[in-house]
Amino acid sequence: MKRFFTFFAAAMILLFSLGGDGLPAVAPPTDLPKTEETVLPVFQEEEPEIAPVYAGAEYDPLLPLLKYADPREEEPKFVMIHFTSAVALTPEDPYNMERIRSIFVENEVSTHYIVDREGTVTCYIPETMVAWHAGKGTWQENPLYENRMNQYAIGIEIAAMGSKEDMSLYLTPQEYDEIPPSQIGFTDAQYSALSQLVSDICYRHGIPMDREHIIGHEEYSLAKNDPGELFSWDRLLSSLSPQKNGN
Ligand SMILES: [Zn+2]
Repeated sequence: MKRFFTFFAAAMILLFSLGGDGLPAVAPPTDLPKTEETVLPVFQEEEPEIAPVYAGAEYDPLLPLLKYADPREEEPKFVMIHFTSAVALTPEDPYNMERIRSIFVENEVSTHYIVDREGTVTCYIPETMVAWHAGKGTWQENPLYENRMNQYAIGIEIAAMGSKEDMSLYLTPQEYDEIPPSQIGFTDAQYSALSQLVSDICYRHGIPMDREHIIGHEEYSLAKNDPGELFSWDRLLSSLSPQKNGN
């Protein structure tokens, strides 16, 4: 508000200091009345709409948003599930959420939501913008989605690791064998949080709750292995119900 009044005062001083006939040097369009309303909006700055949308998420946006997201041009039609971890960097501490966040920041990629091992959901990019998680790929041989799925899919990353095969993109078999079994796969808390989150997204956007519309990254991009063969699609799909969730 302080800034607003500074602009307001500056505008008034400018208007009254022009002397002569009292008109500004550059006349406003003649079809507009010369009132305060025609002057003030010029100085108002629009705040981008930044809200997590899902009420159950903590909001920790990657900023500035336009470095990590695009303006939304299309309505969301899909939910895309991923897994992520910091295991390639710090195998002894793969689920350090600050480190995972910094990996996104450094690689200039993003996701709408990330679900940690305890089921806490954090929003990196609001659904009103397009997060960068899908990369290149194809779906249903539809040219609309070819290499453009980010515009259509709400992205959800789960802090998890898949099977040895799934993780072969990041770890040697020997490295994989050293990971404690408790850190492999998905936790009950994650399935529960994911069920609430996906139900809410589908409800709000009218996305059908089936495997045509709730898809894995690996199904879109052949270069990817997530969420992998340990993720139970049956468990997720059977737990969904179309409703608004969160706090
Ligand atoms: Zn992925």
